[in-house]
Amino acid sequence: MDLAELMRSRRPCVVLTGAGISTESGIPDFRSPSGIWAQYDPMEYATISAFRRDPAKVWEFYALRFEALSRAEPNAGHLALAELERGGFVRAVVTQNIDGLHTRAGSADVIEVHGSIRTASCPACGERMALADLVEALGDDPAPGCARCGEILKPDVVMFGELLPVGALERAQQLVRTAGMLLVVGSSLEVYPVAALPDEALAAGASLAIVNQAPTPYDGLAEVRVDGPAGATLAALAEALASP
Ligand code: NAD
Repeated sequence: MDLAELMRSRRPCVVLTGAGISTESGIPDFRSPSGIWAQYDPMEYATISAFRRDPAKVWEFYALRFEALSRAEPNAGHLALAELERGGFVRAVVTQNIDGLHTRAGSADVIEVHGSIRTASCPACGERMALADLVEALGDDPAPGCARCGEILKPDVVMFGELLPVGALERAQQLVRTAGMLLVVGSSLEVYPVAALPDEALAAGASLAIVNQAPTPYDGLAEVRVDGPAGATLAALAEALASP
């Protein structure tokens, strides 16, 4: 069976995306040889303890990422998923990405389980600031402070060592348990608890399909496995499903 046949016969589909869907928008992933971790040690830049120890250093890293992320545009893969949602094939997109590209591509139901770079919040008083204002603040200050109380803001992304937003994770789990199919796109399926979603889908009787340019631990359990670029693969899928 190919991906289009599987998606037609196993509706509704829930899609789980990772950094690999956004590499064609110019945003590096984490684990590929050209990914972010080849340049930056995650223990120094992406853990909550690193942030508490040296927030300015972590903000320097995020400032670089903000720049790349705010320049990026949705690619053919993001657009195809939005089209598949409008066509009634995709119920929702659960994403580990913080780049906001699914929403900008037109997907209506997007669950951002690792947060987003749209905003940063004050750990002390809860004040929230928008990305656009933050980028301005970063020009003068490596660790932007809260406009209300002065405490150093934290980007609203989930860092290693932090819990995922409970509501988002519960919604993702509930969606995969009631899906006919889980389609994973551009994720190494190595970051937990999100990497356990395929198990939950399979246990509930859903089919699993994977589009990823590298092996994942779930490849043996997938009914369809495509080792190809997300953009062209999803564009071809949307085109195949556009005709009755
Ligand atoms: P990952 O880096 O572990 O895995 C990405 C996978 O995508 C790799 O296996 C890679 O081979 C594959 N890939 C790369 N380009 C592809 C393409 N064009 N088509 C198909 N496959 C492709 O990423 P992950 O599983 O998402 O988990 C790591 C964490 O990365 C997540 O917590 C996420 O928040 C964070 N992250 C997000 C962004 C973003 O928001 N765009 C970017 C980097 C990392």
